[in-house]
Amino acid sequence: MLDEFGLISRYFTWPSERVETRLSVGDDAALIRPASGSEIVVSTDSLVSGRHFREDASAADIGWKALAVNLSDIAAMGAEPVAFTLALSLPDAATEWLTEFSQGLRSAAQSYGVDLVGGDTTRGPLCITITVFGQLTAGMAVRRSGACVGDKIWLSGYLGDAALALRMGEGAAEALQQRLHRPQPRLGLYQHGRDSWHAAIDVSDGFAADLSHVLAASGLGATVSVADLPVSDAFSRADMPADVKQECMLHGGDDYELIVCTAPDVDLQAIGSTALWTSVGIIESEPGMRLRQQDGTVAALTARGWNHFV
Ligand code: ADP
Ligand code: MG
Repeated sequence: MLDEFGLISRYFTWPSERVETRLSVGDDAALIRPASGSEIVVSTDSLVSGRHFREDASAADIGWKALAVNLSDIAAMGAEPVAFTLALSLPDAATEWLTEFSQGLRSAAQSYGVDLVGGDTTRGPLCITITVFGQLTAGMAVRRSGACVGDKIWLSGYLGDAALALRMGEGAAEALQQRLHRPQPRLGLYQHGRDSWHAAIDVSDGFAADLSHVLAASGLGATVSVADLPVSDAFSRADMPADVKQECMLHGGDDYELIVCTAPDVDLQAIGSTALWTSVGIIESEPGMRLRQQDGTVAALTARGWNHFV
């Protein structure tokens, strides 16, 4: 049986890949030297067994997703991730689980070029807390509060895939399952005209819920058009009722796409690509969210995302 230090050195001590990492796992603390003139962006998320993932979920998928959801927050600030720490609470040091978990985590770390620089390991109910440290040019962070009346609301990628996969279970197409279990954070999109981003957020709780956070922070409202909401081919092909699909798109969550608000004359499709960015609505002075439906009528849209305490 491995002790705590054996476990850390076997599963969580990897070579550094980044110049910013000056000191990594093994000392009392890690040292990171951010690029000169940059600010550090910090974000933490916990994944609790039985709440964020099923007890029997693949350990490799849990490892991937635990890092990916944190990286998504860094992407939503318009920043670049550098390093992360891992606080792990484990019921036991099960070799198979740890091997798979560390492989999934490491493949995400390698894919997105971030170093694991430290953490904490304790015995307890399975819980994974990751803190990511990112960097960006000082003053360039994109906050939730900067949306303006008349702004276009842009969305990266597609909505609803992960939620539909969860609903359909084993019957869901592989492409949908991948979106649920191996989300790909939208890193690097800040290269698509970040100077012109007034506000941004990542879609984790559901499109409506996360848009409502931008609106609350900016003190504004919005109208969104259902017909404009982008869905993937796999989502379109899935044999599920239209109302279930719409529920997944608006309220499903786990999308890890970005909502970005820009002035109306900015064209993110021209800067990025039409395949990536869709203009889905407009920021308005009247508070609240409105949804223009397929038949042209407009109805109130209320946030119904995930909330742990209600
Ligand atoms: P301390 O008692 O000084 O807090 P620890 O014994 O908790 O140190 O950890 C020893 C070293 O291993 C530290 O550098 C810590 O950051 C690192 N570490 C502990 N747990 C993990 C983990 N799960 N993943 C990565 N590094 C870890
Ligand atoms: Mg410690």
